[in-house]
Amino acid sequence: MAKPKFVPIPPQPLDRFRSLLGDEYEQIEAVAAWAREAFVGRAIWHISSTARGGGVAELLRTMLPYVRDAGVDTRWVVLRESPEFFCLTKRIHNRLHGAAGDGGPLGEDERRLYESTLAASGREVGRLCQPGDLIYLHDPQTAGLVPLAKEAGLKVVWRCHVGVDRPNDLVRGTWDFLRPYVEQADAYVFSRRQYFWDGLDASKAWYMPPVIDPFSPKNQELGPATVQAILKGIGLTHDGLHGAPVFVRSDGTPGRVERPIGLLQDEPLPDDARMVAQVSRWDRLKDPLGVLEMLDRHLPGADTHLVLAGPDAGGVADDPEGREVFAEVAEAWRGMVPQHRRRAHLLTLPMYDLEENAAMVNALQRRADVVLQKSLAEGFGLTVAEAMWKRRPLVASRVGGIQDQVLDGETGVLVTDPLDLARFGAAIEGILADPARARRMGEAGKRRVTERFLTVYRLREYVALVSSLLGIVQPAEAR
Ligand code: UDP
Repeated sequence: MAKPKFVPIPPQPLDRFRSLLGDEYEQIEAVAAWAREAFVGRAIWHISSTARGGGVAELLRTMLPYVRDAGVDTRWVVLRESPEFFCLTKRIHNRLHGAAGDGGPLGEDERRLYESTLAASGREVGRLCQPGDLIYLHDPQTAGLVPLAKEAGLKVVWRCHVGVDRPNDLVRGTWDFLRPYVEQADAYVFSRRQYFWDGLDASKAWYMPPVIDPFSPKNQELGPATVQAILKGIGLTHDGLHGAPVFVRSDGTPGRVERPIGLLQDEPLPDDARMVAQVSRWDRLKDPLGVLEMLDRHLPGADTHLVLAGPDAGGVADDPEGREVFAEVAEAWRGMVPQHRRRAHLLTLPMYDLEENAAMVNALQRRADVVLQKSLAEGFGLTVAEAMWKRRPLVASRVGGIQDQVLDGETGVLVTDPLDLARFGAAIEGILADPARARRMGEAGKRRVTERFLTVYRLREYVALVSSLLGIVQPAEAR
């Protein structure tokens, strides 16, 4: 095991939200001011298994800078474990979504590997913490640290970002594997009520949907000329307006999109093409093969193009399957008939500079006429909120947290059976054929995200959770 790695959290000014929230912001500021005093001298340690790629890293990266700005001593540490451990935890992740993953076992040998790995990391983490600190663990990769943190006398939250609508035997078996650790936490946080596990104590459960940062390089406003310049810069398009491929970094300094990306395409996306985009890790639960097949069989329009974008293979430390899944998708792409393949573009986006990567995603989402999220299961699906924030109409599977975000017929179209390729095709065609409806959906999506899914909304619950665990009574005016 390598030593856990600190992820820097430069603060971001909370008062940016004043312009978006109006009067409601005053209350949030009061909560922040109270927390600054109430938590003084205590650190809150977030522990996850990757600092880049995927929703958990995205959430921590966008949420914690505001908590630090509020004056709370928040830190983020990433475990660096062996490939065997991450193979096992990916199996656990897949099973928690009801999928067999690599089909491997989850028995006593796996428990030994899981516990011995985390015992070593737990010792390292233990050396960092002081009495009175709080540990905030994320996802199954870290659940085994709960008992170790409890033994050290610390308060522990376990945050589960994974969940499934209808648990099958694989899901329940995996709960059984993890429950001995998880049940010892002082609180557990789920993204949705439906994700609560059998056998846990309901009085310790909190529910918090994930949120996005509207000001980050991923979501900040980019004008059409900038979007075009970024897409031209990465090689997706060839023509462009005369803009520069620039964005504003989180520290306020200028950024420029300039790194080459991995691109599989026969020819660039034409300027007047109608673009359907799915941005996701290369994960079978996002069904990238199904997306390609849908283009092949159910999206006949000669000017309808599909962009499938994800992180550079190998760019996500705790996702060992990414490389393999991308290879499958690339092979399927090569096997498509040429007149359909020319309408499919596969992009792997470099992860060295996460803000540059985020600006690429931002430009792709903004250029898309329809954003697709054809997941087979989805804990929440941050990509959905990101696209809605950008006024994009969604076509998405009616699974998991996507259902909390997309209002069917209002902000997009939900497809009940995620394997029904014909329905996905028809939903996309329907939106593309009616630009006025697409615009209405985009506006409604933006309103919905503005009202519910912005980082600032989680801050109050976060403070409430931490103070309740630390036994500090919150006065009514700071709630
Ligand atoms: N993402 C990214 N770069 C990529 C691909 C994905 O930054 O090349 C981001 C995406 O924008 C979103 C997150 O990764 O913020 C994925 O989160 P989501 O909840 O959609 O899915 P998860 O990966 O957690 O299953």
